[in-house]
Amino acid sequence: MTMYAFRCQECGPFDARYPIGSAPDRSSCPDCGGPSSRMITAPGIAGGRDPYRLAVERTMASADAPRVVSSLPATNSRRPVRVTTHPLHRTLPRP
Ligand SMILES: [Zn+2]
Repeated sequence: MTMYAFRCQECGPFDARYPIGSAPDRSSCPDCGGPSSRMITAPGIAGGRDPYRLAVERTMASADAPRVVSSLPATNSRRPVRVTTHPLHRTLPRP
């Protein structure tokens, strides 16, 4: 099974799996059921769990919907988390 890219006229792009060489030129959108045409894309031969690819996908996903945090992560108060090791960052103003 290979992932093929389609574009719905209403909902935008989505991926669908078909056996190699048997993907139709048109498909139906999984969200609205509307007509969708197949897009020509670069082959996804990397596959698997490539760390670089996962990082790029996470970055692209957060560009559209950034994750907002409302508090700092829990830390051990005796050992504060070092955010940076650059010596000039120690001169930055502190809250
Ligand atoms: Zn749709």
